[in-house]
Amino acid sequence: MPSLETELERARELSVDDLADAIESIGFECTRCGACCTSHGEDEHTATVFPDEVRELQGATASDDGAPATGSDTPESDATAEARDWRDVARPMPYGLTEGEDGPEGETFEWALQTGGCGDCVFYAEDDDGVGACTAHDDRPLICRTYPFSVALDGTSQPMGEAVDEAGVVRAHECEGLGRDISREDAEALAAALKERAVRELEEAIDVRDEYAPADTGAGEVVVHDSEGAKRPDGTRLSN
Ligand code: SF4
Repeated sequence: MPSLETELERARELSVDDLADAIESIGFECTRCGACCTSHGEDEHTATVFPDEVRELQGATASDDGAPATGSDTPESDATAEARDWRDVARPMPYGLTEGEDGPEGETFEWALQTGGCGDCVFYAEDDDGVGACTAHDDRPLICRTYPFSVALDGTSQPMGEAVDEAGVVRAHECEGLGRDISREDAEALAAALKERAVRELEEAIDVRDEYAPADTGAGEVVVHDSEGAKRPDGTRLSN
């Protein structure tokens, strides 16, 4: 298996034009169905968000093209006036944690977008007609900006399971918007974001690997290892 550093070099050399060709050949238009922002059955919405993206979302204001928040537990309810807490935006990635007497405990890697009571992303809101929108559209993380696509390099994430279509190194994941016409301009913008995400994911993976040191976790304790080191679930450094 190639090293993360080798894959990072490959990611940096990806041609945006080639990626755009692949996206054009697969086709995509967002139908605003909300499937990539919501829970599925028992499964909470789970999408990786990087530490600097969490900080951007802490200060994000509602987007012009996002629907207004509908519930008092959504971050937009009084969120535009002051920064949100880390926990309002992100939660420890659940994989690797075990269920203790007082809730999840153990060590995990990276953060997932925070979810609301029904398991949907906290930034997702629906209008009275049931049309969904991202209330942090302009500040949404790379994983959201590039869904349903990924690139097939080791160390990059493949969202929501197996690929349902592929072209070159581009993989497409389950989404009802696949197969629809996309303009060259939109395909190029998506391709540029997809390359940026591939590079970021590999840089993050390398930093997580290099920063990692096993942490002692007691009953009911969770430690999150990200590219900046070990943190508590509220985003503060463990060594503080
Ligand atoms: S941040 Fe926005 S685009 Fe991303 S999952 Fe949440 S609602 Fe959807």
